[in-house]
Amino acid sequence: MLGGKPVRTEIFPHSNSIGEEEKQAVIRVLESGNLSQYVGSWNKDFYGGPSVRQFEKDWAEFLGVEYSIAVNSNTSGLYACIGACDIGPGDEVIVSPYTMTAGAIAPLIYGAVPVFADIDEDIFCLDPKSIEEKITPRTKAILVVHICGHPTDMDEVMEIAGRFNLKVIEDCAQSPMSTYKGKNVGTIGDVGIFSLNYHKHIHTGEGGMITTNNPVIAEKVQLIRNHGEAVVEGKKTADIYNTFGFNYRMTEMEAAVGIEQLKKLPELIEKRISNANYLSKILGTLPGIIPPLVKEGCRHVYYQQAFKFKKEIAGVGRNTFVDAVKAELPVMRLRESTPIMGTGFAPPLYLQPIYQQRLHKCSFNCPRYEGNVSYERGLCPVTERMYFEEVFTHEYMRPTFTKYDLEDVINAYMKVYENLSELKEYEAKKFLAG
Ligand SMILES: *Cc1c(COP(=O)(O)O)cnc(C)c1O
Repeated sequence: MLGGKPVRTEIFPHSNSIGEEEKQAVIRVLESGNLSQYVGSWNKDFYGGPSVRQFEKDWAEFLGVEYSIAVNSNTSGLYACIGACDIGPGDEVIVSPYTMTAGAIAPLIYGAVPVFADIDEDIFCLDPKSIEEKITPRTKAILVVHICGHPTDMDEVMEIAGRFNLKVIEDCAQSPMSTYKGKNVGTIGDVGIFSLNYHKHIHTGEGGMITTNNPVIAEKVQLIRNHGEAVVEGKKTADIYNTFGFNYRMTEMEAAVGIEQLKKLPELIEKRISNANYLSKILGTLPGIIPPLVKEGCRHVYYQQAFKFKKEIAGVGRNTFVDAVKAELPVMRLRESTPIMGTGFAPPLYLQPIYQQRLHKCSFNCPRYEGNVSYERGLCPVTERMYFEEVFTHEYMRPTFTKYDLEDVINAYMKVYENLSELKEYEAKKFLAG
């Protein structure tokens, strides 16, 4: 960053788990001519075609859960779960501010109000203590996110939910095979949702999978997925609350890809964990760098490797530090627009205009809503400190990275540490220059 020769210019290996197996699976679907088999009325194809049903069966067995319901994204899966938990106008759902946008929007879709609780400063998932503080007579559910691949403190969450009679929805988009005391996430709460979009551990291009042991929730999700209002009469569904449906259907091609991807998941996760452990062990020796904590009895699956950076100890600011490390390594983008290393992870959701301006008027001005939710700056101090000051993430632990690649990553960090005094001067000058 200050003009020397970078540690590495050779591009890192591209992450691609799509191979011959997926190709053949898609060809088989194409040759059948049956790219989707759903019918939005009560007939045998209400549940989709053979690949969708096989993928659901495989997923349920793999996770050890009664029902798996394929959808076209984790986002639509979240919406379906809010609906299936009978949430509606006047209700509140406790959500995390430190995640991707969809988790907090889901309640709004059904006219309910998202209430943000703060996160745990070690694992960045919702903090049970903060959850409990946010409960009101209007609270209907807790939507936890096993963020970055580490599970939430589920014993505490389930205990609170039991005491206040709340549903627990688990957003597992970043955490397939993440376990809490031996149990897979997505099988502990009332319902879980996994993402199969292109960025996730395994993918079908776009896609999602809902998991539950509750037959009532499973049925509602199936109805919401596929035009439920046109189905309930023929199906003789007794409880039709929130069963008006959307089209959240997964195609046969995506499901065929998913069947093959699922077989690869254990190996992909194992490689990620071993790479992350190696990087954590060495980078954790650098003063001021705190590698991700893995709580006892938990498996972290490292969708992101999220470190904390203590500028009081290192002597330079987090953003300067991250810029310096990135300058030592080849520019690499995981997605078109996202670099492989970044600061903050996710800006606190409540600071977005939709909350600041209460743009979803039907939820906030609803005559049935008797609360007065806050979205002020300062609402979740831990989240704000993590985002604005402490957390940085990288994805140098991706499964395609070899030992040789990891050595270059380590050398980049080490080189920056060896030149911290120069970096401090640079930062001071930049500060003075305004
Ligand atoms: C990726 C992601 C989503 C959205 O998943 P899609 O399948 O793209 O809709 C939701 N929540 C979290 C935590 C995610 O990481």
